Amino acid sequence: MNRSVSVFFLTSEVLPVVKTGGLADVSAALPAALSELPDETIDIRIGTLAFRGVEKLPGYSLAKTFVARTPAGPLTIRIFEGRLGKGDVPVYAVDPEGIFDRPGLYGEYGSEYPDNLERFSVLNHALLHLPAVMGFSPDIIHANDWQTALSVPLLPHVIRPRTRTKPQRTVISIHNMAFQGVYPLDQWHWTGLPPSYNRFDGLEYHGRLSLLKGGIQFSDVVTTVSPGYREEVLTEPGGFGLSGALRHRQDRFVGLLNGIDDREWDPSSDPFLPIHFSRVDPAPKEFLKQRMRKEWRLFSAEPRPLFGVVSRMAHQKGLDLLVETLFAMGREGNLEGDWAVLGAGDSALEERWRALHAIYPDQIHLRIGFDEALAHRIIGAADFLVVPSVYEPCGLTQMYAMRYGTLPVVNPTGGLRDTVEDGKTGIWLDDLSESGLRRSLRTARGLYLAGKEIGEMKQRAMAVDSSWSNRAREYSRLYRNILDAPPCHNPFA
Ligand code: ADP
Repeated sequence: MNRSVSVFFLTSEVLPVVKTGGLADVSAALPAALSELPDETIDIRIGTLAFRGVEKLPGYSLAKTFVARTPAGPLTIRIFEGRLGKGDVPVYAVDPEGIFDRPGLYGEYGSEYPDNLERFSVLNHALLHLPAVMGFSPDIIHANDWQTALSVPLLPHVIRPRTRTKPQRTVISIHNMAFQGVYPLDQWHWTGLPPSYNRFDGLEYHGRLSLLKGGIQFSDVVTTVSPGYREEVLTEPGGFGLSGALRHRQDRFVGLLNGIDDREWDPSSDPFLPIHFSRVDPAPKEFLKQRMRKEWRLFSAEPRPLFGVVSRMAHQKGLDLLVETLFAMGREGNLEGDWAVLGAGDSALEERWRALHAIYPDQIHLRIGFDEALAHRIIGAADFLVVPSVYEPCGLTQMYAMRYGTLPVVNPTGGLRDTVEDGKTGIWLDDLSESGLRRSLRTARGLYLAGKEIGEMKQRAMAVDSSWSNRAREYSRLYRNILDAPPCHNPFA
């Protein structure tokens, strides 16, 4: 039995409280897996924000109210408490006087809320005060992305070392370098940090302030979500301007591959699927496909592969290239198969997909929006899931797809390269371009029509174990190593 470790895991998204992307999946599944590791005692608790409607979630109720000093003045913080996993992981969702009670999490209609620095700074202040209020004393504060990065430099200022019962260490995990929480310097007062941090070796970033940079500079360890992405962000353009800061921390920067929640994503019991299947009984997948084709009004009589897309509608995800490629292919009368597409995001891109759908309504099922049930159905029913990302820190959908015997067609970048094997568990694009996409879709269709080999590939994909129960151990090892190593030096604290 290893010695016990207590961790406070800070995140702006966690299922089922609020989700806009993969961070919510990881924030639910990793802590649950850590709490369930055999021979380990990890007391992990999640600190997040109370998105609108949290009080109506099953199992969530008001646990405590306290007043916190924040850069917006003293605020009354309500703490809603729920549980994750087998019920062992507490989730504390903080509500600082309604600042997260809005239709969007980060913004609406494609624009960020103008007071995001204030909102997320208040969140970090509230979360750092929370352990004392709830009566626990974490060894490690584990922040995620720019939204909770401020907690790293703030920790010694909000909770003075002499008032702590033990030294606390910090980790920051980066899920996507493109989002950094960069704001004008004249908003500095909202951070609550002393002005001494306004330096190139602090939060200063090209005449502005960067929350993510603060997390990178002062945490004991920096992690990102795949070994491949770690390499990419150490140089530009992958580092989105922060590769220098990362290289500076290179010896304390690790790439740990994300996993998937194999209970949420299990084709043999998925509550969103009307028909179930598994590796030992794969045949019902075909019935599921036919049933969904009917429901989605994809009526062709000839055998055709079904290509799925479940994604944010963003340039990062390559959905602009994909839609234009499909327009061009369609003009030549060949989309290589039927398509089931679910996505939301960039409104101009959404419009392009709507326009494509209007031309081929009986070959493309399109849903613009965020729909968890449909995401499961598309990934369950499709033969291939197309993920032509320009860059991909880890990516989860390709791993969900493999578990469901749906072969990912991916641009081999970052985590996609680390998780999909070309010709074995999926297909790699040889080039991220219209011609590269066309070639890989043609290869996919050929495999589908040839029959035998695709069956073997699906079997191999379904046998890949991407579960968190497998991968959480690396985080447990990391936590213990941090506690044994000297802390990161912060000259400003
Ligand atoms: P990212 O976090 O960059 O968006 P990931 O692949 O890591 O990409 O995670 C995306 C998560 O969001 C997956 O769980 C995927 O199923 C889900 N998702 C993406 N778009 C939608 C959508 N429109 N509706 C439902 N789920 C979606």
